[in-house]
Amino acid sequence: MNPKLSLVIYRICLYVGIAVILIVALFDTPIGKGAGIAIGAVITLAGAVQVNLFYKCPHCGQYINPRGKQPPKCPKCGKDLNW
Ligand SMILES: [Zn+2]
Repeated sequence: MNPKLSLVIYRICLYVGIAVILIVALFDTPIGKGAGIAIGAVITLAGAVQVNLFYKCPHCGQYINPRGKQPPKCPKCGKDLNW
């Protein structure tokens, strides 16, 4: 997978997962609080797992921290991260 797409999916999963948890925690939904929170947690976790798998330097495979600003160069091999 494209690392940039992986980062976008990570951020969407993070916000959607947290939104689901907040919605089920604050409102009465047909799925119930326990199941709703579990679903939100799974969405958030899925995003975190896939970003750990795919958000890497294309040259050396170094894992890049998905939080914060994307570095212009790989912290390990120093090559441009032009993805
Ligand atoms: Zn690298």
